[in-house]
Amino acid sequence: MAEPEEQVLDGVGVAPGIAEGPLTAIDLGGLQAPDRRIAAGDAAAETARLDAAVERTIRQLKALRARRARLPDAAAEEIGYILDAHLQMLSGSRLLRGARARIEDARRSADYALAQEVEAAARGFEALNDPYLAARAEDVREVGRRVLRMLQDAAPNPFESLPDGALAAAESFSPADVAQMNPARIRGFAAELGGAQGHTAILARSLGLPAVLGVAGLMQAAAAAEAAAHAAGGGPVPALIDGFEGKIVLNPREATRRRYRDRRAGHERERRKLERLRDRPAETRDGVRLALEANLDLPAEAATALTHGAEAVGLLRTEFLFMNVDRPPDEEAQTAILTEVVRAMQGRSVTIRTMDVGGEKLAHALGPELAGAANPALGLRAIRLSLKRPKLLQTQLAAILRAGAEGPVRILLPMITTPGEVRRVREHLTRVRRRLQRKGVRQAPEPPPVGVMIEAPGAALAADALAQVSDFFAIGTNDLTMYTLAVDRADDQVAHLYNPLHPAVLRLMEFSIQAALRARLPVSVCGEIAGDPRFTALLIGLGVRELSMSAGAIPQIKQRVRTLDAAACAQRARAVVDSLDAGRIASLLDDLNGLG
Ligand code: PEP
Ligand code: MG
Repeated sequence: MAEPEEQVLDGVGVAPGIAEGPLTAIDLGGLQAPDRRIAAGDAAAETARLDAAVERTIRQLKALRARRARLPDAAAEEIGYILDAHLQMLSGSRLLRGARARIEDARRSADYALAQEVEAAARGFEALNDPYLAARAEDVREVGRRVLRMLQDAAPNPFESLPDGALAAAESFSPADVAQMNPARIRGFAAELGGAQGHTAILARSLGLPAVLGVAGLMQAAAAAEAAAHAAGGGPVPALIDGFEGKIVLNPREATRRRYRDRRAGHERERRKLERLRDRPAETRDGVRLALEANLDLPAEAATALTHGAEAVGLLRTEFLFMNVDRPPDEEAQTAILTEVVRAMQGRSVTIRTMDVGGEKLAHALGPELAGAANPALGLRAIRLSLKRPKLLQTQLAAILRAGAEGPVRILLPMITTPGEVRRVREHLTRVRRRLQRKGVRQAPEPPPVGVMIEAPGAALAADALAQVSDFFAIGTNDLTMYTLAVDRADDQVAHLYNPLHPAVLRLMEFSIQAALRARLPVSVCGEIAGDPRFTALLIGLGVRELSMSAGAIPQIKQRVRTLDAAACAQRARAVVDSLDAGRIASLLDDLNGLG
């Protein structure tokens, strides 16, 4: 029997590593929706939820349509035709009018109303007994599934049914989807949408899952390979994910497999060599000591942080608390989770960031006002949401204070732009401390330091003022780059414009570092550049002594630090920051990197 043909697809490698296994295309959520009645007063909110989900689906379809430009002509045409048909079904169509009527008249949830309307429309097409129209029935169901997926962020774990060692493929994975992947069972993943700086990518790196995003035509190629394997009486499609180079290989030939296995063995040897540095200090050749810390996205990563020699948790993102749940966890539940992390870090400091939900991050549990914002990244996000919903904020602060009874904690506030926001959080903190005291609940012996993320350009430029109300700064270069350059960090179409080395970003960084140093505040960098060895010399040169990164990056950064001379870095960094030209900056950085 002829061997199935090897096929290589290109995308963006967002999490390093090579994984081999059966490629399993998954449909994140079917058309199931329970029959849920709603009160008359809730109809408007349900309709708004439906409209928001439709809006997001339209955006997703348009993104997929734009992606098709990278495909060969015939495939592009075919996919374009289907996506156009789907878009049409969502623009002021009978389908949506029908679903809205079911919400208002039959008082049903948006999910159920939509699922019922879709089924009715699909059956209508099927009843016409015409093969062309029967195909439309499948289109209607597909569109319905897309909208339902948007409505049901909290669907049951779709990865449980995948075979052990599978590589997961989908049109797109949200951060909440990745949080549900068990790295002991899923070896890696690939998707058509997404870029290297988004939270889906960050989570993949945190979990050590090789991942490739922005793979045009992935689902169609996977379906075709699966159909061919099926016709030949074979099983699932064998595949490779190369998270270094951003490649997916379907049906790899034996020689290709061997090549990849050799590469993987090489990386493994290198990793073991780096791990030997674990208990050595991150110290430059001229004796400047750095603190290398871990960014955690999930509590379970605390153990990995220790294995890699993290000196502290420099950023614990708490968004996971609000993912894949219907309701936010209460104070007890949050306390238990945070306490576990603090205990696991065995006396090392844990910087806990209050929720940064909104923007591209999911917020199913937090209510409808977050859905459907015209510009979510500029809207009710992060600290703005926390201050608007003080109960949520106070619950988080109480849980942090209580976890602080078990070890040192710091409180970090995301998306701060004005000193007033910090002051208001401090007032809430005082109130919560008093309440815990009155009730005799154990909490941190002293009020924990309160720091701010410098991640909006306005915060960087107002860093002097923020320094007066803050105990420390954490520079979030992921968002700082996105907001300064007006480039969506998760959109691979504009990924070429996303550049933390842009002179504007560098100046904002330098400005905030200087403000912190003048005010004698600790300052760290916790954006993705902290874990990228290309930036280490520059950051040291700019005066940063604390870097927080994906735990897996720590050994490599430590090795880099130990080759550098801080005084020489400072001299060269000056020239980099003084330059006005991104090209010149890149070449100065190459010089700087040639130093060590
Ligand atoms: C950042 O913006 O750089 C950051 C560290 O925060 P997040 O990636 O969670 O937005
Ligand atoms: Mg950020």
